[in-house]
Amino acid sequence: MGKKKIVKKGKKPHKNKPTSKKYSKYKVEGSSLKKERFCPRCGPGVFLMKSKDRLYCGKCHYAEFIGSAENHK
Ligand SMILES: [Zn+2]
Repeated sequence: MGKKKIVKKGKKPHKNKPTSKKYSKYKVEGSSLKKERFCPRCGPGVFLMKSKDRLYCGKCHYAEFIGSAENHK
């Protein structure tokens, strides 16, 4: 039998990985779902990307303009 000794060098304590942005959107599902718009074509789960003045779906290329309500600057 081959004796394999696995030496783990530099074993670090488990760190909290930064979750992806996409996942964070799922996480807030329920409370702040109003903020994140999902694609009306692709359905819930496919969120629209927010650019300067519009929302955009990278999947079906649906685009929706944001009203003046988002003017913070
Ligand atoms: Zn879509």
